[in-house]
Amino acid sequence: MSQPYEPEFQQAFNEFVSTIKESTLFEKHPEYEKVIPVVSIPERILQFRVTWENDKGEMQVNHGYRVQFNSALGPYKGGLRLHPTVNLSVLKFLGFEQIFKNALTGLSMGGGKGGSDFNPKGKSDAEIRRFCVAFMRQLARYIGQFTDVPAGDIGTGGREIGFMFGAYKQMRNQWEGVLTGKGLSWGGSLIRPEATGYGLDYYVEKMIEKATNGKESFKGKRVAISGAGNVAQYAALKAIDLGATVVSLSDSKGAIIAQNGITPQQVLDIQAAKLHFKSLKDIIVSADSFQGHKIQYLPGARPWTNVGAVDIALPCATQNEVSEDEAKALVAAGCKFIAEGSNMGCTREAIDVFEAERKNAKTLGSSIWYAPGKAANCGGVAVSGLEMAQNSQRVQWTTEEVDKKLKDIMVTCFDNCYETANTYKAEANKGSLPSLVMGANIAGFVKVADA
Ligand code: GLU
Repeated sequence: MSQPYEPEFQQAFNEFVSTIKESTLFEKHPEYEKVIPVVSIPERILQFRVTWENDKGEMQVNHGYRVQFNSALGPYKGGLRLHPTVNLSVLKFLGFEQIFKNALTGLSMGGGKGGSDFNPKGKSDAEIRRFCVAFMRQLARYIGQFTDVPAGDIGTGGREIGFMFGAYKQMRNQWEGVLTGKGLSWGGSLIRPEATGYGLDYYVEKMIEKATNGKESFKGKRVAISGAGNVAQYAALKAIDLGATVVSLSDSKGAIIAQNGITPQQVLDIQAAKLHFKSLKDIIVSADSFQGHKIQYLPGARPWTNVGAVDIALPCATQNEVSEDEAKALVAAGCKFIAEGSNMGCTREAIDVFEAERKNAKTLGSSIWYAPGKAANCGGVAVSGLEMAQNSQRVQWTTEEVDKKLKDIMVTCFDNCYETANTYKAEANKGSLPSLVMGANIAGFVKVADA
């Protein structure tokens, strides 16, 4: 299954297989079990050297990768992560998750992931550009609009996609939708930057609606969010827009807690400053919008044990950012809904805490409900799929059109997870809310296995 030491991939794979085994899927359809080994090995892994020049004229070397995991449903699709922690285990876990996430969007996309251990933090714009061009010089030979369509992820935003797209176009002398997350004036889609965060909130809206029989919504809820990048920013803005109070954000250096709520202007100021890799610690001192507001800064901390009473937790930073103890703290703080904007945001132990609470709940209203990233954050790659469709048709849809399609995809994805979990849940679990982890894994898997 895995190579000798691939802890992240092993974690993602084990979570996937164990939840399916707890269901009645193999009992009802034994033929599906044979497909597990098939989806466990990437169709192809490409690994290459990236050499680039820093501002001092010195040669730098990084690892570059693309994991082309599964193309049963369409061209490989998934982001490029630029972060010092990137290695094959991380990219295999992300590529594996991407297969089923992409299936859950209902669009025709296979799963893949790539990136480099290059650290954009502290690099000049020119250095980032030279890295991106050098990276694409290697990657270009393996990708194409019908083969493999990369996009952004941690460390790769619109600017980096622009540098890479320009390099590809020059090398091939050909304009094609080979990357998504492009700028609006050169083939990008409206709502693509917002898509992951907005989609996450649309998914959580459905969870709240279902668990409360339509009596409640985001309105009046207290929401803890981690992260301060693209996903966290738009999850916060949409949650505020829907009437919630966002009480936290965080970055790799620490967390900010605002009991009275973070304002949209503060989120926009964070967005502008994060383009230049400024830390939250510096932003809350320098940005006007933070002056005169009661903001607590906790160095080296994550929000979960520090936010106090919350209704909703949205991990939007990176993998394994909610531990078992933090999960217990969230439960004790009254948190009812946990949904991952990040991929594998919760550790296995944290998921076990949430799932046990869900199973043991006496009433619907007292239940805790956890949604995994492959379902809750599929809005990003979904709008990437819509960007590919627009590129093929040489058209650009309006904000309203794309937002509506995104919302429809998230609602369908939620219904699919919910109904699939109900169909395949083991007898012992009847009576509680269905497991969205199980539902997402089975619904994604069955579609790929059928293909
Ligand atoms: N990196 C994002 C994800 O984890 C988006 C991928 C894409 O748009 O292809 O789903």
